[in-house]
Amino acid sequence: MSEESSSSTTKTILVIAAALGAVAILYWSWSANWKQATIELGYYCLSCKQTENITSYQDDYPNNWRQYPGGGSDSVLYCIKCKKGRAHPVNDCKTCGTVFILHLFPRYDEYGDPLCPKCDAAYGQMAKSRGVDLMPKELNP
Ligand SMILES: [Zn+2]
Ligand SMILES: [Zn+2]
Repeated sequence: MSEESSSSTTKTILVIAAALGAVAILYWSWSANWKQATIELGYYCLSCKQTENITSYQDDYPNNWRQYPGGGSDSVLYCIKCKKGRAHPVNDCKTCGTVFILHLFPRYDEYGDPLCPKCDAAYGQMAKSRGVDLMPKELNP
């Protein structure tokens, strides 16, 4: 019966190999999905007025980017271009497409989403009256 037992061993090996393959495929698709889920964040520097995109959270942060102490939010970072400015994340309004700066003079709606200073004219005016430019030309060419 040695032949039969060896064929069952082969079967066992095949089953293990198939299981390993399935795990490898699962892992691969999981890591691929995970990578796709990484958000691309636009950052605007208040000093040098340049925009930088943080594409991969793991690659660029915190190696190149450091939190800006007293920036009002832990999303406010040191600009990697001029090395001294405050870089703020930006948001583009889904309604009017205006790109505006977050965490500078923030206002939120009832859902916790940042308000657009253009759609909410009163908010935009209030920021302007305090000398805060939430929609700089550089972001809205
Ligand atoms: Zn800068
Ligand atoms: Zn808007």
